[in-house]
Amino acid sequence: GTTGKPTVVGYTEHDMDIWAEVMGRVFTMGGLTCKDLLHNATGYGLFTGGLGFHSAAERMKIAVIPSSTGFTSRQLLLLRDFGATAITGTPSFALHLAEKAKAEGYDIKKDFKLKVGFFGAEPASEGLKNEIANIWGIDYIEVYGLSEIIGPGVASSCKHSHLLHVNEDHFYPEIIDPKTGEVLEDGERGELVVTTLTKQGLPIIRYRTGDITSITRVPCRCGRTLCRIESIVGRSDDMLVINGVNVFPSQIEHVLSKIDDITINYQIIAQKKGYLDKLEIDIELSENFMSDDVNEFNQLKKKIEHELLNALYINVDVKLVAPRSIQRSEGKAIRVIDKRAN
Ligand SMILES: [Zn+2]
Repeated sequence: GTTGKPTVVGYTEHDMDIWAEVMGRVFTMGGLTCKDLLHNATGYGLFTGGLGFHSAAERMKIAVIPSSTGFTSRQLLLLRDFGATAITGTPSFALHLAEKAKAEGYDIKKDFKLKVGFFGAEPASEGLKNEIANIWGIDYIEVYGLSEIIGPGVASSCKHSHLLHVNEDHFYPEIIDPKTGEVLEDGERGELVVTTLTKQGLPIIRYRTGDITSITRVPCRCGRTLCRIESIVGRSDDMLVINGVNVFPSQIEHVLSKIDDITINYQIIAQKKGYLDKLEIDIELSENFMSDDVNEFNQLKKKIEHELLNALYINVDVKLVAPRSIQRSEGKAIRVIDKRAN
């Protein structure tokens, strides 16, 4: 895991084979073959991301640039000079990379040859996925996994839909009500529970992932028969309870992604005001929004607050901040600051 005390996970040689196999399926869903070149901007080292992508790529005879995270300018240079056709990383890093590329004078569609990106490790709304796909001119493949199960490769989306195919011959999925533990029907939203069917080193029975999603067995246009889960709505521990209403950061992001003049860089701050919870959202204005007119500024703020009220059923205080004033992340973005005493 990436929060709190690190979790130690063990793999046998057989488990490494399974990992390479399921990650190989992920790459195949994104259309990769041995002719591709993969820029692996997922963290290596003591983190299950980078190595999982790397070993599967080697297995498929795909050349890999093991760039890991950080050093954004150097990553751009590598991307341009080697002409990688595929990239991995977090969605927030994909945005950060695009922003840096523009600032450094690259022409994203001309200077880079990327066709597809494999992103994961943090939830991304439909709007954010589309934005990344459009900026880079790529297919957005979402990769889901967690270290306790195997790392990335438990499930991934294909080119035909945003739902994620679960590798259910290795990882048996169930959806439960997080409060009662009761197993829910297909289509009902709840916490994902996974049982490993083939792992040796760290077999796990009915592991509670904390991730909120639902399962569907409706056939996918790609022809794969594996069941699919919804893109992760949020972790049950990411969920904010604001005056009794459940709020996921991804719901907020979805609303923001549809509004002009702002960016998708935001921070949610929850605090107590008297006995009540108060939610503030700091949102960066887009570079194109240039107005000294206080009215125009206030209208935009009111509009966002109105849209959020409609979507979340709670009052939110929106603060519009200057472009690039919220700190960027090269790993998982810090979207939520909860200042309420527990
Ligand atoms: Zn599919």
